[in-house]
Amino acid sequence: MIFRSVCVISIFFCGISFASQISSYKPIFIPFNDANGQLHIALRSFEQDGHPEYLIVSPDTLETEVKMATEIDLFLSKKVSEKRVSQSRFMRLVSSGEVRHSGSSVNGLFLTVDLCPSKKPFVREVITQLPSSEAPIPMAIAVTGVWLSQHAEDLVWLKRQASEGRVRVTWVNHSLSHPVKPDFMRSSGIVLEDEVLKNEQQMLAVGIVPSVFFRFPGLISSDILKVKLRDLHLIALGSDAWLAKGEVPKNGSVVLVHGNGNEPRGISLLMTRYLHKVDRWLELNKI
Ligand SMILES: [Zn+2]
Repeated sequence: MIFRSVCVISIFFCGISFASQISSYKPIFIPFNDANGQLHIALRSFEQDGHPEYLIVSPDTLETEVKMATEIDLFLSKKVSEKRVSQSRFMRLVSSGEVRHSGSSVNGLFLTVDLCPSKKPFVREVITQLPSSEAPIPMAIAVTGVWLSQHAEDLVWLKRQASEGRVRVTWVNHSLSHPVKPDFMRSSGIVLEDEVLKNEQQMLAVGIVPSVFFRFPGLISSDILKVKLRDLHLIALGSDAWLAKGEVPKNGSVVLVHGNGNEPRGISLLMTRYLHKVDRWLELNKI
């Protein structure tokens, strides 16, 4: 089983020299306090090129990071307050079913850019047309495994924009294969856990850290799928402002456009009406 999973990831990325090998990937749930008393939750355990690691989240800030097991194993066995964990912002959002809009009053919008499978290149104007800003502009990018496997150059470019401080990217899981027909993720034969966890492995293999958000393809889900997603401790990321569908954002909206070249109308609306206001954009983790 483990061998098969290693092969899948390696084959997918043959030709991408920077991909690392992710194996023994498991969803876990271990809250712990670090040496400074800060609460974290270990959500996944895995090996990266043979080294044991964890994907962890801060339940207050929703920031995720990868830590070597040697850095945190010591803390995992110590008890933490269950009440503190269950009342954290992260756990409340996981239980909420779906986030389409900020839960508090905020002044601004959350920009989300979907990368569903596409042969077309990334619409770089989403970043190059941003007004200049001293601070990186926050942007959530929802990426599929299929897009990652076909757009190595675009990914390098995107990572460079982030490392040069132009944007601060929150990477959202948008499924491995992005099922569409006949009924998106509700289609028979689609296994949510595979679509979610295998894409997380692909993201990690190419050096991007998955956030705690998952976007259902087409924004189509069901109560059963949402329960399964909750069991993996992820937050369903909807949208109340899919620009190409004519939905108009208001303060706190999650704005949706496609950066995969397949929805020029949404991009055009973004450019002409919204993108030029640099102080408008908020970081998804603050939702
Ligand atoms: Zn999509």
